[in-house]
Amino acid sequence: MENFDAANNIQDLQYFGEFGGVNPSISDSSTYTFLSAKTMFDTFEGKTEGCYLYSRHSTPSNLYLSQALAQMEGTESANVTASGMGAITSTLFQLCKAGDHIISSRTIYGGTYAFMKNFLHDYNIKTSFVDITDLSAVENAITENTKVLFCETVSNPLLEIADLFELAKLAKKHNLQLVVDNTFSPLSISPQILGADITIHSLTKFINGSSDAVAGVVCASAQFINDLKDVNSGACMLLGPTLDSFRAASILKNLRTLHIRMKKHSENAQYLAEQFENDGLAVKYPGLKSHKQHELFKSMMNPEYGFGGLLTLDVQTMKRANELMELMQKENLGYLAVSLGFYKTLFSCSGSSTSSEIPEAEQKEMGLSEGLIRMSIGLDHDIKRTYGKMKWCMQQVGILS
Ligand SMILES: *Cc1c(COP(=O)(O)O)cnc(C)c1O
Repeated sequence: MENFDAANNIQDLQYFGEFGGVNPSISDSSTYTFLSAKTMFDTFEGKTEGCYLYSRHSTPSNLYLSQALAQMEGTESANVTASGMGAITSTLFQLCKAGDHIISSRTIYGGTYAFMKNFLHDYNIKTSFVDITDLSAVENAITENTKVLFCETVSNPLLEIADLFELAKLAKKHNLQLVVDNTFSPLSISPQILGADITIHSLTKFINGSSDAVAGVVCASAQFINDLKDVNSGACMLLGPTLDSFRAASILKNLRTLHIRMKKHSENAQYLAEQFENDGLAVKYPGLKSHKQHELFKSMMNPEYGFGGLLTLDVQTMKRANELMELMQKENLGYLAVSLGFYKTLFSCSGSSTSSEIPEAEQKEMGLSEGLIRMSIGLDHDIKRTYGKMKWCMQQVGILS
């Protein structure tokens, strides 16, 4: 583990363009020619390494990005998809058949929750949602049909931390696949190194970082990635969540600055969280000693990248939350928008937006208050100035005196 350096791994890859360009050429083709009919047949059978068949299967540009992300997560292989949900749904369909069972953290991205609760449920793949921080609750939920243990490293939006090392032990003991959505903590946490079987990202967020594209990735063993792309039974090949080559190329270029951006997101979020806490606000951030799993996060993290760019602020009522967010947007401190990982701070009220798929009663039970603002802290050059202006906004709406 000491020798694993995700950022070095990305940078050690070298791709040249067709004419010696410093960026790899973009493959602008949906289909590929073969010199002999025999090679085409063998490629269909999966017997020819490095041959391209049809771009839903793979493209050179998608393979470059996939390889860089596999290097980042320390997996043998990876497959990029047209969205984070494309990565999650393909993975779960590949791992589970009718009658199988999933154990999932109850605090996960709203889309993932809805997919398991409503969609997979109707295909007779049932999910038990548990408090992932309670390891005995996780173990007690295991049945003979359980195939998958699913969680987010840092949960959305409550910022609970999954103990990946212990969850991996449980998964091994009961022969389950530990699938981890690492969207909130790229580079700072490497789930595979801690024992996860499959690591997923929505590339839409920090990894691309410019809020101009939607994409995802599954990082796993070569065997599992081949299974996903199998022409007869692969969920990626047959459901078709294929990423466009132009997007793959643009995301690869942004990936190269991820290490610099993550440091700045974390530095800014840590500063704001500390100030908000001093002001007596109900702030949650894994980098605060007051966060329940601060020590756990520390034990798993690569310290260079800090505790991530997400913090939450609970201002109790939706009315106050809305007033604050509208004023902060007016003052150009950030945008009232869902998503995360942009250069600009983004804020939204989770209960009524990205977690609205979760019924109100369940939101309450898990501690998701209607006044909970999730903030993805931006790359602000002068975070002290930003803090001063945010404080002024909070005074205007009566959250601070
Ligand atoms: C956004 C997000 C997703 C879904 O990704 P898309 O690219 O929007 O499909 C999944 N998990 C987490 C944690 C996310 O934040």
